[in-house]
Amino acid sequence: MVYQAVDSRYSTMKYNRSGVSGLQLPAISLGLWHNFGGVDTYENGREMLRRAFDLGITHFDLANNYGPPPGSAEEMFGRMLKTDFASYRDEMIISSKAGYTMWPGPYGDWGSKKYLIASLDQSLKRMGLDYVDIFYSHRPDPNTPLEETMGALDTVVRQGKALYVGISNYSAEQTEEAVKILNRLGTPLVIHQPSYSMLNRWIEDGLQDVLQENGVGSIAFCPLAQGLLTNKYINGIPTDSRAAKPVSFLSKDQVTEEVVNRVKKLNEVAVERGQNLAQMALAWVLRGGKVTSALIGASRVSQIEENVAALNNLTFSEEELNRIDDILKS
Ligand code: NDP
Repeated sequence: MVYQAVDSRYSTMKYNRSGVSGLQLPAISLGLWHNFGGVDTYENGREMLRRAFDLGITHFDLANNYGPPPGSAEEMFGRMLKTDFASYRDEMIISSKAGYTMWPGPYGDWGSKKYLIASLDQSLKRMGLDYVDIFYSHRPDPNTPLEETMGALDTVVRQGKALYVGISNYSAEQTEEAVKILNRLGTPLVIHQPSYSMLNRWIEDGLQDVLQENGVGSIAFCPLAQGLLTNKYINGIPTDSRAAKPVSFLSKDQVTEEVVNRVKKLNEVAVERGQNLAQMALAWVLRGGKVTSALIGASRVSQIEENVAALNNLTFSEEELNRIDDILKS
Protein backbone atom coordinates (compact mmCIF):
# COMPACT_ATOMS: atom_id res chain seq x y z
CA MET A 1 0.00 0.00 0.00
CA VAL A 2 1.22 3.50 -0.79
CA TYR A 3 2.43 5.23 2.36
CA GLN A 4 0.93 8.53 3.30
CA ALA A 5 2.23 10.21 6.44
CA VAL A 6 -0.42 11.14 9.00
CA ASP A 7 -1.38 14.81 9.22
CA SER A 8 -0.89 14.83 12.99
CA ARG A 9 2.83 13.98 12.73
CA TYR A 10 4.04 17.30 14.14
CA SER A 11 1.49 17.59 16.93
CA THR A 12 3.30 15.88 19.81
CA MET A 13 7.02 15.62 19.04
CA LYS A 14 9.35 18.14 20.65
CA TYR A 15 12.08 19.71 18.47
CA ASN A 16 15.32 21.03 19.94
CA ARG A 17 17.87 23.29 18.31
CA SER A 18 21.30 21.75 17.80
CA GLY A 19 23.59 24.18 19.62
CA VAL A 20 23.43 27.65 18.07
CA SER A 21 22.78 26.33 14.56
CA GLY A 22 19.61 26.59 12.50
CA LEU A 23 19.15 22.81 12.68
CA GLN A 24 16.34 21.46 14.85
CA LEU A 25 16.15 17.79 15.72
CA PRO A 26 13.37 15.73 17.25
CA ALA A 27 13.97 14.99 20.95
CA ILE A 28 13.90 11.30 19.93
CA SER A 29 15.74 10.24 16.77
CA LEU A 30 15.94 6.77 15.24
CA GLY A 31 19.20 4.99 14.43
CA LEU A 32 19.49 2.18 11.89
CA TRP A 33 22.56 0.41 13.31
CA HIS A 34 20.55 -2.72 14.12
CA ASN A 35 17.43 -4.29 12.57
CA PHE A 36 17.72 -2.60 9.16
CA GLY A 37 20.46 -4.74 7.62
CA GLY A 38 20.41 -7.24 4.79
CA VAL A 39 19.92 -10.03 7.35
CA ASP A 40 16.85 -8.37 8.86
CA THR A 41 13.18 -8.43 7.85
CA TYR A 42 12.65 -5.63 5.35
CA GLU A 43 8.95 -5.17 6.12
CA ASN A 44 9.60 -4.81 9.85
CA GLY A 45 12.15 -2.05 9.17
CA ARG A 46 9.75 -0.36 6.82
CA GLU A 47 6.92 -0.41 9.38
CA MET A 48 9.23 1.06 12.00
CA LEU A 49 10.32 3.87 9.70
CA ARG A 50 6.74 4.72 8.76
CA ARG A 51 5.54 4.72 12.36
CA ALA A 52 8.53 6.79 13.49
CA PHE A 53 7.84 9.42 10.85
CA ASP A 54 4.15 9.47 11.75
CA LEU A 55 5.18 10.18 15.35
CA GLY A 56 7.26 13.18 14.35
CA ILE A 57 10.66 11.49 14.24
CA THR A 58 12.25 13.41 11.40
CA HIS A 59 15.85 12.34 12.00
CA PHE A 60 17.27 9.00 10.84
CA ASP A 61 20.86 8.15 11.64
CA LEU A 62 22.97 5.85 9.47
CA ALA A 63 26.63 5.06 8.83
CA ASN A 64 28.48 3.46 5.96
CA ASN A 65 29.05 0.25 7.90
CA TYR A 66 25.57 -0.36 9.36
CA GLY A 67 24.07 -3.71 8.41
CA PRO A 68 25.12 -6.46 8.49
CA PRO A 69 26.53 -6.78 5.92
CA PRO A 70 28.17 -3.31 5.97
CA GLY A 71 26.36 -0.91 3.65
CA SER A 72 23.11 -2.86 3.67
CA ALA A 73 21.30 -0.53 6.13
CA GLU A 74 21.90 2.36 3.74
CA GLU A 75 20.69 0.22 0.84
CA MET A 76 17.53 -0.82 2.70
CA PHE A 77 16.92 2.76 3.78
CA GLY A 78 17.43 3.91 0.19
CA ARG A 79 14.75 1.48 -1.00
CA MET A 80 12.33 2.71 1.67
CA LEU A 81 13.06 6.33 0.81
CA LYS A 82 12.24 5.66 -2.80
CA THR A 83 9.00 3.77 -2.21
CA ASP A 84 7.64 5.61 0.83
CA PHE A 85 9.40 8.87 1.56
CA ALA A 86 10.34 10.41 -1.80
CA SER A 87 7.87 13.24 -1.33
CA TYR A 88 8.96 13.80 2.28
CA ARG A 89 12.72 14.25 1.71
CA ASP A 90 12.64 17.91 2.73
CA GLU A 91 10.96 16.94 6.01
CA MET A 92 13.78 14.55 6.92
CA ILE A 93 17.23 14.88 8.44
CA ILE A 94 19.36 11.99 7.23
CA SER A 95 22.86 11.45 8.54
CA SER A 96 25.71 9.14 7.65
CA LYS A 97 29.25 8.62 8.88
CA ALA A 98 32.62 7.20 7.97
CA GLY A 99 35.38 6.20 10.33
CA TYR A 100 35.23 2.43 10.90
CA THR A 101 36.41 -0.34 8.58
CA MET A 102 34.45 -0.31 5.33
CA TRP A 103 36.62 -1.76 2.59
CA PRO A 104 40.01 -3.47 2.47
CA GLY A 105 43.30 -1.67 2.15
CA PRO A 106 44.60 1.62 3.56
CA TYR A 107 41.78 3.81 2.15
CA GLY A 108 38.71 2.13 3.66
CA ASP A 109 39.03 3.08 7.34
CA TRP A 110 39.73 5.86 9.88
CA GLY A 111 39.89 9.57 8.95
CA SER A 112 41.84 10.38 5.79
CA LYS A 113 40.39 12.75 3.22
CA LYS A 114 40.64 9.92 0.68
CA TYR A 115 38.45 7.62 2.80
CA LEU A 116 35.86 10.13 4.00
CA ILE A 117 35.10 11.56 0.59
CA ALA A 118 35.00 8.21 -1.22
CA SER A 119 32.84 6.74 1.53
CA LEU A 120 30.29 9.55 1.42
CA ASP A 121 30.04 9.13 -2.36
CA GLN A 122 29.29 5.44 -1.82
CA SER A 123 26.73 6.20 0.93
CA LEU A 124 24.90 8.66 -1.31
CA LYS A 125 24.70 6.03 -4.08
CA ARG A 126 23.41 3.36 -1.70
CA MET A 127 20.71 5.67 -0.36
CA GLY A 128 19.90 7.20 -3.73
CA LEU A 129 20.45 10.71 -2.37
CA ASP A 130 22.12 13.84 -3.72
CA TYR A 131 23.15 14.96 -0.25
CA VAL A 132 22.97 13.96 3.42
CA ASP A 133 21.87 16.46 6.02
CA ILE A 134 24.67 15.61 8.45
CA PHE A 135 27.97 13.89 7.69
CA TYR A 136 30.11 12.69 10.59
CA SER A 137 33.66 11.68 11.20
CA HIS A 138 32.69 8.49 13.05
CA ARG A 139 35.78 8.36 15.27
CA PRO A 140 39.03 10.29 15.76
CA ASP A 141 42.02 8.97 13.81
CA PRO A 142 45.25 9.07 15.82
CA ASN A 143 47.38 8.86 12.66
CA THR A 144 45.75 11.49 10.44
CA PRO A 145 46.14 15.21 11.22
CA LEU A 146 42.86 16.55 12.58
CA GLU A 147 43.17 19.38 10.02
CA GLU A 148 42.86 16.79 7.23
CA THR A 149 39.81 15.02 8.70
CA MET A 150 38.06 18.32 9.43
CA GLY A 151 39.15 19.58 6.00
CA ALA A 152 37.37 16.61 4.43
CA LEU A 153 34.17 17.54 6.31
CA ASP A 154 34.47 21.12 5.09
CA THR A 155 35.04 19.88 1.52
CA VAL A 156 31.88 17.73 1.41
CA VAL A 157 29.80 20.70 2.53
CA ARG A 158 31.37 22.89 -0.16
CA GLN A 159 30.68 20.13 -2.70
CA GLY A 160 27.02 20.15 -1.69
CA LYS A 161 27.13 16.53 -0.53
CA ALA A 162 26.35 17.41 3.10
CA LEU A 163 24.57 20.34 4.72
CA TYR A 164 26.02 20.09 8.23
CA VAL A 165 28.98 18.29 9.79
CA GLY A 166 29.43 16.36 12.99
CA ILE A 167 31.93 14.29 14.92
CA SER A 168 31.37 11.17 16.95
CA ASN A 169 33.33 9.52 19.76
CA TYR A 170 35.76 12.48 20.04
CA SER A 171 37.04 13.39 23.55
CA ALA A 172 36.53 16.85 25.07
CA GLU A 173 40.05 17.90 24.05
CA GLN A 174 39.73 16.58 20.50
CA THR A 175 36.37 18.30 20.20
CA GLU A 176 37.81 21.63 21.29
CA GLU A 177 40.48 21.31 18.59
CA ALA A 178 37.95 20.24 15.95
CA VAL A 179 35.74 23.25 16.75
CA LYS A 180 38.67 25.63 16.23
CA ILE A 181 39.70 24.08 12.92
CA LEU A 182 36.17 23.97 11.55
CA ASN A 183 35.52 27.59 12.58
CA ARG A 184 38.68 28.59 10.74
CA LEU A 185 37.47 26.72 7.66
CA GLY A 186 34.05 28.38 7.85
CA THR A 187 32.06 25.17 8.34
CA PRO A 188 31.07 25.18 12.01
CA LEU A 189 30.68 21.99 14.01
CA VAL A 190 26.94 21.56 14.44
CA ILE A 191 26.73 18.34 16.42
CA HIS A 192 28.64 15.75 18.41
CA GLN A 193 27.38 12.16 18.66
CA PRO A 194 28.65 10.56 21.88
CA SER A 195 27.46 7.53 23.81
CA TYR A 196 25.47 8.61 26.87
CA SER A 197 23.11 6.89 29.26
CA MET A 198 22.51 6.38 32.96
CA LEU A 199 25.09 3.57 32.76
CA ASN A 200 27.66 5.60 30.81
CA ARG A 201 28.11 9.20 31.94
CA TRP A 202 31.54 10.05 30.51
CA ILE A 203 30.34 13.16 28.65
CA GLU A 204 29.53 14.86 31.96
CA ASP A 205 33.26 14.94 32.65
CA GLY A 206 34.30 17.76 30.28
CA LEU A 207 32.71 17.12 26.90
CA GLN A 208 29.34 18.68 27.74
CA ASP A 209 31.09 21.85 28.92
CA VAL A 210 33.07 22.12 25.69
CA LEU A 211 29.90 21.66 23.64
CA GLN A 212 28.00 24.21 25.71
CA GLU A 213 30.80 26.79 25.53
CA ASN A 214 31.07 26.44 21.76
CA GLY A 215 27.38 26.28 20.90
CA VAL A 216 27.56 22.72 19.58
CA GLY A 217 24.58 20.35 19.90
CA SER A 218 24.71 16.69 20.89
CA ILE A 219 22.82 13.53 20.05
CA ALA A 220 23.25 10.73 22.58
CA PHE A 221 23.68 7.24 21.15
CA CYS A 222 22.74 4.05 23.06
CA PRO A 223 20.60 6.02 25.56
CA LEU A 224 19.04 2.71 26.60
CA ALA A 225 22.45 1.00 26.86
CA GLN A 226 21.37 -1.24 23.96
CA GLY A 227 18.28 -2.36 25.88
CA LEU A 228 19.82 -2.87 29.33
CA LEU A 229 17.99 0.25 30.54
CA THR A 230 14.57 -1.22 29.87
CA ASN A 231 12.69 -3.77 31.90
CA LYS A 232 13.33 -6.58 29.35
CA TYR A 233 16.28 -8.23 31.15
CA ILE A 234 14.82 -8.13 34.66
CA ASN A 235 13.70 -11.76 34.51
CA GLY A 236 16.42 -13.23 32.33
CA ILE A 237 17.41 -12.88 28.68
CA PRO A 238 14.43 -13.09 26.28
CA THR A 239 15.14 -15.11 23.12
CA ASP A 240 14.14 -12.22 20.87
CA SER A 241 16.44 -9.67 22.53
CA ARG A 242 19.72 -8.18 21.30
CA ALA A 243 21.69 -9.93 24.07
CA ALA A 244 20.37 -13.33 22.88
CA LYS A 245 21.65 -12.88 19.33
CA PRO A 246 24.65 -15.09 18.48
CA VAL A 247 26.61 -12.16 17.02
CA SER A 248 25.87 -8.95 18.87
CA PHE A 249 27.44 -5.85 20.35
CA LEU A 250 25.57 -6.63 23.57
CA SER A 251 26.79 -9.93 24.93
CA LYS A 252 25.03 -12.10 27.50
CA ASP A 253 28.01 -11.45 29.81
CA GLN A 254 27.03 -7.79 30.05
CA VAL A 255 23.68 -8.73 31.62
CA THR A 256 25.25 -9.24 35.05
CA GLU A 257 23.48 -9.68 38.38
CA GLU A 258 24.87 -6.30 39.45
CA VAL A 259 23.40 -4.54 36.39
CA VAL A 260 20.04 -6.30 36.75
CA ASN A 261 19.82 -5.36 40.44
CA ARG A 262 20.48 -1.72 39.58
CA VAL A 263 17.98 -1.86 36.73
CA LYS A 264 15.29 -3.26 39.07
CA LYS A 265 15.78 -0.33 41.45
CA LEU A 266 15.71 2.18 38.59
CA ASN A 267 12.54 0.54 37.34
CA GLU A 268 10.89 1.22 40.71
CA VAL A 269 11.66 4.94 40.38
CA ALA A 270 10.30 4.91 36.83
CA VAL A 271 7.04 3.24 37.87
CA GLU A 272 6.55 5.83 40.61
CA ARG A 273 6.93 8.52 37.92
CA GLY A 274 4.25 6.82 35.84
CA GLN A 275 6.77 5.67 33.20
CA ASN A 276 8.51 2.47 32.30
CA LEU A 277 12.28 2.27 32.62
CA ALA A 278 12.99 2.88 28.92
CA GLN A 279 10.93 6.06 29.10
CA MET A 280 12.66 7.28 32.24
CA ALA A 281 16.08 6.49 30.77
CA LEU A 282 15.29 8.68 27.74
CA ALA A 283 13.82 11.49 29.84
CA TRP A 284 16.96 11.36 32.02
CA VAL A 285 19.28 11.76 28.99
CA LEU A 286 17.26 14.79 27.88
CA ARG A 287 17.02 16.35 31.37
CA GLY A 288 18.21 19.92 31.71
CA GLY A 289 18.25 20.53 27.97
CA LYS A 290 21.94 19.80 27.42
CA VAL A 291 21.35 16.95 24.96
CA THR A 292 19.61 17.89 21.70
CA SER A 293 18.25 14.43 20.89
CA ALA A 294 18.24 10.89 22.28
CA LEU A 295 19.19 8.50 19.49
CA ILE A 296 17.32 5.25 20.02
CA GLY A 297 17.35 1.93 18.26
CA ALA A 298 14.32 -0.33 18.00
CA SER A 299 13.50 -3.87 16.93
CA ARG A 300 9.73 -3.37 16.67
CA VAL A 301 7.13 -0.65 16.21
CA SER A 302 5.81 -0.87 19.79
CA GLN A 303 9.21 0.16 21.18
CA ILE A 304 9.21 3.34 19.11
CA GLU A 305 5.71 4.19 20.33
CA GLU A 306 6.68 3.51 23.93
CA ASN A 307 9.89 5.51 23.65
CA VAL A 308 8.26 8.56 22.08
CA ALA A 309 5.75 8.55 24.96
CA ALA A 310 8.72 9.31 27.24
CA LEU A 311 8.20 12.93 26.19
CA ASN A 312 5.00 13.02 28.28
CA ASN A 313 7.13 13.36 31.40
CA LEU A 314 10.54 14.94 30.98
CA THR A 315 10.82 16.69 34.34
CA PHE A 316 12.57 15.25 37.37
CA SER A 317 12.36 16.40 40.95
CA GLU A 318 15.62 16.95 42.80
CA GLU A 319 14.72 13.97 44.97
CA GLU A 320 14.23 11.68 41.95
CA LEU A 321 17.58 12.72 40.49
CA ASN A 322 19.32 12.08 43.80
CA ARG A 323 17.69 8.67 44.12
CA ILE A 324 18.83 7.77 40.61
CA ASP A 325 22.37 8.97 41.37
CA ASP A 326 22.43 6.86 44.53
CA ILE A 327 21.26 3.76 42.63
CA LEU A 328 23.87 4.31 39.92
CA LYS A 329 26.61 4.66 42.53
CA SER A 330 25.52 1.60 44.54
P1 NDP B 1 19.52 1.93 22.39
O1 NDP B 1 20.36 2.08 23.60
O2 NDP B 1 18.29 2.78 22.26
O3 NDP B 1 19.11 0.38 22.27
C1 NDP B 1 18.13 -0.01 21.36
C2 NDP B 1 17.66 -1.42 21.65
O4 NDP B 1 17.04 -1.49 22.94
C3 NDP B 1 16.60 -1.85 20.68
O5 NDP B 1 17.13 -2.34 19.48
C4 NDP B 1 15.84 -2.89 21.46
O6 NDP B 1 16.61 -4.10 21.47
C5 NDP B 1 15.85 -2.29 22.85
N1 NDP B 1 14.71 -1.40 23.12
C6 NDP B 1 14.45 -0.18 22.58
N2 NDP B 1 13.32 0.34 23.08
C7 NDP B 1 12.84 -0.57 23.96
C8 NDP B 1 11.71 -0.59 24.78
N3 NDP B 1 10.84 0.42 24.84
N4 NDP B 1 11.51 -1.69 25.57
C9 NDP B 1 12.38 -2.71 25.54
N5 NDP B 1 13.48 -2.75 24.77
C10 NDP B 1 13.71 -1.68 23.98
O7 NDP B 1 20.35 2.27 21.11
P2 NDP B 1 21.22 1.44 20.03
O8 NDP B 1 22.28 0.68 20.73
O9 NDP B 1 20.31 0.70 19.12
O10 NDP B 1 21.86 2.65 19.25
C11 NDP B 1 21.01 3.63 18.69
C12 NDP B 1 21.65 4.32 17.53
O11 NDP B 1 22.80 5.05 17.95
C13 NDP B 1 22.19 3.39 16.44
O12 NDP B 1 21.18 2.91 15.59
C14 NDP B 1 23.14 4.31 15.74
O13 NDP B 1 22.41 5.17 14.88
C15 NDP B 1 23.73 5.11 16.90
N6 NDP B 1 25.02 4.57 17.34
C16 NDP B 1 26.14 5.31 17.06
C17 NDP B 1 27.38 4.87 17.42
C18 NDP B 1 28.57 5.72 17.10
O14 NDP B 1 29.72 5.27 17.25
N7 NDP B 1 28.37 6.94 16.65
C19 NDP B 1 27.59 3.57 18.11
C20 NDP B 1 26.34 2.89 18.40
C21 NDP B 1 25.12 3.39 18.03
P3 NDP B 1 16.01 -5.58 21.31
O15 NDP B 1 16.60 -6.08 20.05
O16 NDP B 1 16.55 -6.30 22.49
O17 NDP B 1 14.52 -5.48 21.29
